Amino acid sequence: MVNTTAYTIELWMHLGGTFRRIGHRLLPAESHSNPLSIVHSNMKVHILPALSDNYMYLVVDDKTQEAAIVDPVEPKKVIDAVHKEGVKLTTVLTTHHHWDHAGGNVELAELVKGLTVCGGDDRIGALNKKVTHGDGLKVGNLDVKCLFTPCHTRGHICYIVSGQPSAVFTGDTLFVAGCGKFFEGYPSEMYKALIEVLGKLPADTNKREANEPTVPSSIGDEFKFNPFMRVHEENVKKYTGKSDPVDVMGALRQDKDKFKPKH
Ligand SMILES: [Zn+2]
Repeated sequence: MVNTTAYTIELWMHLGGTFRRIGHRLLPAESHSNPLSIVHSNMKVHILPALSDNYMYLVVDDKTQEAAIVDPVEPKKVIDAVHKEGVKLTTVLTTHHHWDHAGGNVELAELVKGLTVCGGDDRIGALNKKVTHGDGLKVGNLDVKCLFTPCHTRGHICYIVSGQPSAVFTGDTLFVAGCGKFFEGYPSEMYKALIEVLGKLPADTNKREANEPTVPSSIGDEFKFNPFMRVHEENVKKYTGKSDPVDVMGALRQDKDKFKPKH
Protein backbone atom coordinates (compact mmCIF):
# COMPACT_ATOMS: atom_id res chain seq x y z
CA MET A 1 0.00 0.00 0.00
CA VAL A 2 1.53 3.25 -1.04
CA ASN A 3 1.04 6.46 0.83
CA THR A 4 0.52 9.29 -1.59
CA THR A 5 -1.39 11.80 0.45
CA ALA A 6 1.42 14.30 0.40
CA TYR A 7 1.33 14.48 -3.35
CA THR A 8 -1.13 16.19 -5.57
CA ILE A 9 -1.60 17.69 -8.98
CA GLU A 10 0.15 20.80 -9.99
CA LEU A 11 -0.93 23.20 -12.66
CA TRP A 12 1.42 24.88 -15.03
CA MET A 13 0.24 27.81 -17.07
CA HIS A 14 1.71 29.01 -20.29
CA LEU A 15 1.42 32.77 -20.29
CA GLY A 16 2.60 34.84 -23.22
CA GLY A 17 5.49 32.60 -24.19
CA THR A 18 6.38 31.74 -20.62
CA PHE A 19 5.53 28.83 -18.38
CA ARG A 20 4.62 29.24 -14.80
CA ARG A 21 3.03 27.04 -12.30
CA ILE A 22 0.21 27.29 -9.87
CA GLY A 23 0.26 24.31 -7.58
CA HIS A 24 -0.95 23.34 -4.16
CA ARG A 25 2.30 24.06 -2.43
CA LEU A 26 2.26 27.56 -3.81
CA LEU A 27 -1.25 28.30 -2.68
CA PRO A 28 -1.73 29.89 0.74
CA ALA A 29 -2.81 27.21 3.21
CA GLU A 30 -6.05 28.98 4.05
CA SER A 31 -7.09 28.97 0.41
CA HIS A 32 -7.43 25.19 0.29
CA SER A 33 -11.11 25.25 1.13
CA ASN A 34 -11.91 28.00 -1.37
CA PRO A 35 -12.35 27.34 -5.07
CA LEU A 36 -10.21 29.49 -7.31
CA SER A 37 -10.57 30.16 -11.02
CA ILE A 38 -7.91 31.07 -13.56
CA VAL A 39 -9.12 32.84 -16.69
CA HIS A 40 -7.42 32.19 -20.03
CA SER A 41 -8.35 33.78 -23.33
CA ASN A 42 -9.97 30.57 -24.55
CA MET A 43 -10.72 28.62 -21.37
CA LYS A 44 -11.21 28.77 -17.65
CA VAL A 45 -9.57 26.51 -15.11
CA HIS A 46 -11.51 26.14 -11.89
CA ILE A 47 -9.34 24.82 -9.07
CA LEU A 48 -11.42 22.61 -6.78
CA PRO A 49 -9.97 21.63 -3.39
CA ALA A 50 -10.23 17.91 -2.61
CA LEU A 51 -9.30 15.63 0.28
CA SER A 52 -6.99 17.35 2.74
CA ASP A 53 -4.48 18.88 0.37
CA ASN A 54 -5.25 17.89 -3.21
CA TYR A 55 -6.80 19.86 -6.02
CA MET A 56 -9.01 18.85 -8.93
CA TYR A 57 -9.06 21.00 -12.05
CA LEU A 58 -12.20 21.72 -14.07
CA VAL A 59 -11.09 22.93 -17.50
CA VAL A 60 -13.81 24.69 -19.52
CA ASP A 61 -13.71 25.58 -23.21
CA ASP A 62 -15.14 29.10 -23.57
CA LYS A 63 -16.60 28.52 -27.03
CA THR A 64 -18.58 25.35 -26.38
CA GLN A 65 -18.78 25.32 -22.56
CA GLU A 66 -17.56 21.75 -22.76
CA ALA A 67 -15.43 20.70 -19.79
CA ALA A 68 -12.83 18.18 -18.66
CA ILE A 69 -11.96 17.33 -15.07
CA VAL A 70 -8.44 16.35 -14.03
CA ASP A 71 -8.28 13.62 -11.34
CA PRO A 72 -11.83 13.92 -9.93
CA VAL A 73 -11.26 12.21 -6.60
CA GLU A 74 -14.36 13.84 -5.08
CA PRO A 75 -17.14 13.40 -7.67
CA LYS A 76 -19.87 15.27 -5.81
CA LYS A 77 -17.75 18.40 -5.61
CA VAL A 78 -17.14 18.07 -9.33
CA ILE A 79 -20.89 17.79 -10.04
CA ASP A 80 -21.57 20.85 -7.87
CA ALA A 81 -18.98 22.86 -9.81
CA VAL A 82 -20.35 21.65 -13.16
CA HIS A 83 -23.86 22.79 -12.16
CA LYS A 84 -22.62 26.08 -10.74
CA GLU A 85 -20.68 26.89 -13.89
CA GLY A 86 -23.41 25.60 -16.20
CA VAL A 87 -20.99 23.54 -18.29
CA LYS A 88 -21.15 20.16 -19.99
CA LEU A 89 -18.67 17.67 -18.54
CA THR A 90 -17.50 15.24 -21.21
CA THR A 91 -14.00 14.13 -20.25
CA VAL A 92 -11.95 12.84 -17.33
CA LEU A 93 -8.18 13.29 -17.55
CA THR A 94 -6.56 10.87 -15.09
CA THR A 95 -2.87 11.33 -14.36
CA HIS A 96 -2.39 7.98 -12.60
CA HIS A 97 -4.17 5.18 -10.78
CA HIS A 98 -3.46 6.12 -7.15
CA TRP A 99 -6.63 6.44 -5.10
CA ASP A 100 -6.17 10.11 -4.30
CA HIS A 101 -6.26 10.87 -8.03
CA ALA A 102 -8.37 8.15 -9.69
CA GLY A 103 -10.45 7.06 -6.69
CA GLY A 104 -13.55 8.98 -7.83
CA ASN A 105 -13.63 7.86 -11.46
CA VAL A 106 -16.12 4.99 -11.13
CA GLU A 107 -18.63 7.04 -9.14
CA LEU A 108 -18.31 10.02 -11.46
CA ALA A 109 -18.80 7.82 -14.53
CA GLU A 110 -22.01 6.54 -12.94
CA LEU A 111 -23.24 10.05 -12.16
CA VAL A 112 -22.42 11.46 -15.61
CA LYS A 113 -23.28 9.10 -18.45
CA GLY A 114 -21.15 9.01 -21.58
CA LEU A 115 -17.95 10.38 -20.05
CA THR A 116 -14.70 9.76 -21.88
CA VAL A 117 -12.33 8.58 -19.15
CA CYS A 118 -8.70 8.94 -20.21
CA GLY A 119 -5.57 7.55 -18.61
CA GLY A 120 -2.44 5.60 -19.34
CA ASP A 121 -2.92 2.67 -16.99
CA ASP A 122 -5.39 -0.25 -16.94
CA ARG A 123 -5.65 0.05 -13.15
CA ILE A 124 -7.54 3.36 -13.55
CA GLY A 125 -11.22 3.01 -12.66
CA ALA A 126 -13.83 3.44 -15.45
CA LEU A 127 -11.04 3.85 -18.02
CA ASN A 128 -12.46 3.78 -21.55
CA LYS A 129 -9.81 5.70 -23.47
CA LYS A 130 -6.28 4.50 -22.89
CA VAL A 131 -3.76 7.09 -24.01
CA THR A 132 -0.02 7.21 -24.47
CA HIS A 133 2.71 9.66 -25.36
CA GLY A 134 1.76 12.15 -28.07
CA ASP A 135 -1.92 11.21 -28.20
CA GLY A 136 -4.26 14.11 -28.74
CA LEU A 137 -7.91 14.62 -27.87
CA LYS A 138 -10.48 17.38 -27.97
CA VAL A 139 -12.51 19.00 -25.24
CA GLY A 140 -14.82 21.29 -27.19
CA ASN A 141 -12.39 23.39 -29.20
CA LEU A 142 -9.50 22.77 -26.81
CA ASP A 143 -6.63 20.50 -27.83
CA VAL A 144 -5.29 18.17 -25.18
CA LYS A 145 -1.95 16.43 -25.63
CA CYS A 146 -0.77 13.48 -23.54
CA LEU A 147 2.80 13.14 -22.23
CA PHE A 148 3.85 9.72 -20.97
CA THR A 149 5.94 10.25 -17.81
CA PRO A 150 6.30 6.86 -16.05
CA CYS A 151 8.23 6.45 -12.79
CA HIS A 152 5.96 7.49 -9.92
CA THR A 153 3.65 4.89 -11.49
CA ARG A 154 4.33 2.97 -14.67
CA GLY A 155 1.32 4.50 -16.44
CA HIS A 156 1.62 8.15 -15.40
CA ILE A 157 0.42 10.73 -17.94
CA CYS A 158 0.76 14.53 -17.87
CA TYR A 159 -1.73 16.56 -19.93
CA ILE A 160 -1.17 19.80 -21.80
CA VAL A 161 -4.31 21.75 -22.65
CA SER A 162 -3.24 24.17 -25.32
CA GLY A 163 -4.49 27.70 -25.62
CA GLN A 164 -3.62 31.26 -24.76
CA PRO A 165 -2.27 30.50 -22.26
CA SER A 166 -1.83 26.74 -22.13
CA ALA A 167 -1.99 24.68 -18.97
CA VAL A 168 0.01 21.57 -18.10
CA PHE A 169 -1.12 19.16 -15.41
CA THR A 170 1.86 17.28 -14.03
CA GLY A 171 0.15 14.92 -11.57
CA ASP A 172 2.59 13.26 -9.18
CA THR A 173 5.56 13.63 -11.52
CA LEU A 174 6.78 17.19 -10.87
CA PHE A 175 6.35 19.30 -7.74
CA VAL A 176 7.68 22.65 -6.76
CA ALA A 177 11.29 21.95 -5.87
CA GLY A 178 10.62 18.23 -5.96
CA CYS A 179 9.13 15.25 -7.73
CA GLY A 180 6.97 12.23 -6.97
CA LYS A 181 8.37 9.10 -5.41
CA PHE A 182 9.71 6.44 -7.74
CA PHE A 183 7.12 3.82 -6.77
CA GLU A 184 7.14 1.91 -10.04
CA GLY A 185 10.08 3.23 -11.98
CA TYR A 186 13.73 4.05 -12.16
CA PRO A 187 15.81 7.21 -11.85
CA SER A 188 16.39 7.06 -15.61
CA GLU A 189 12.64 7.40 -16.20
CA MET A 190 12.25 10.37 -13.86
CA TYR A 191 15.29 11.91 -15.54
CA LYS A 192 13.57 11.57 -18.89
CA ALA A 193 10.26 12.91 -17.56
CA LEU A 194 11.72 15.97 -15.81
CA ILE A 195 14.60 16.89 -18.07
CA GLU A 196 13.63 15.66 -21.50
CA VAL A 197 9.82 15.91 -21.49
CA LEU A 198 8.63 18.55 -19.00
CA GLY A 199 12.00 20.32 -19.04
CA LYS A 200 11.67 20.95 -22.77
CA LEU A 201 8.46 22.90 -22.37
CA PRO A 202 8.81 26.63 -22.92
CA ALA A 203 10.48 28.18 -19.91
CA ASP A 204 10.83 31.07 -17.72
CA THR A 205 9.30 34.06 -16.18
CA ASN A 206 9.52 35.60 -12.77
CA LYS A 207 6.83 38.10 -13.51
CA ARG A 208 4.04 38.27 -10.98
CA GLU A 209 0.60 39.68 -11.40
CA ALA A 210 -0.79 41.54 -8.46
CA ASN A 211 -4.30 40.19 -8.87
CA GLU A 212 -3.22 36.58 -8.59
CA PRO A 213 -3.29 35.05 -5.12
CA THR A 214 -0.63 32.57 -6.08
CA VAL A 215 3.10 32.72 -6.41
CA PRO A 216 4.27 32.17 -9.96
CA SER A 217 7.00 29.70 -10.71
CA SER A 218 8.49 28.57 -13.98
CA ILE A 219 10.32 25.70 -15.57
CA GLY A 220 13.29 28.06 -15.58
CA ASP A 221 12.91 28.53 -11.81
CA GLU A 222 12.80 24.79 -11.34
CA PHE A 223 16.06 24.44 -13.23
CA LYS A 224 17.47 26.88 -10.67
CA PHE A 225 15.88 25.58 -7.47
CA ASN A 226 14.62 22.04 -7.98
CA PRO A 227 17.48 19.65 -7.22
CA PHE A 228 15.82 16.98 -9.37
CA MET A 229 16.15 19.27 -12.37
CA ARG A 230 19.73 20.29 -11.49
CA VAL A 231 21.25 16.83 -11.82
CA HIS A 232 23.77 18.10 -14.37
CA GLU A 233 25.25 20.66 -11.98
CA GLU A 234 28.59 20.05 -10.35
CA ASN A 235 27.54 21.04 -6.84
CA VAL A 236 24.52 18.73 -6.96
CA LYS A 237 26.69 15.90 -8.28
CA LYS A 238 29.16 16.58 -5.51
CA TYR A 239 26.42 16.56 -2.88
CA THR A 240 25.31 13.10 -3.96
CA GLY A 241 28.80 11.78 -4.63
CA LYS A 242 27.68 10.65 -8.09
CA SER A 243 28.72 11.83 -11.52
CA ASP A 244 26.14 10.38 -13.91
CA PRO A 245 23.00 12.59 -13.89
CA VAL A 246 20.73 9.54 -13.71
CA ASP A 247 22.63 8.26 -10.65
CA VAL A 248 22.37 11.75 -9.17
CA MET A 249 18.60 11.60 -9.69
CA GLY A 250 18.40 8.26 -7.87
CA ALA A 251 20.58 9.42 -4.99
CA LEU A 252 18.55 12.61 -4.50
CA ARG A 253 15.31 10.64 -4.36
CA GLN A 254 16.75 8.20 -1.80
CA ASP A 255 17.96 11.11 0.26
CA LYS A 256 14.60 12.83 0.18
CA ASP A 257 12.72 9.62 1.02
CA LYS A 258 14.90 9.25 4.10
CA PHE A 259 14.09 12.69 5.41
CA LYS A 260 10.35 12.65 4.77
CA PRO A 261 9.23 9.64 6.80
CA LYS A 262 5.59 10.75 7.10
CA HIS A 263 5.28 10.97 3.31
ZN1 LIG B 1 0.49 9.16 -6.79
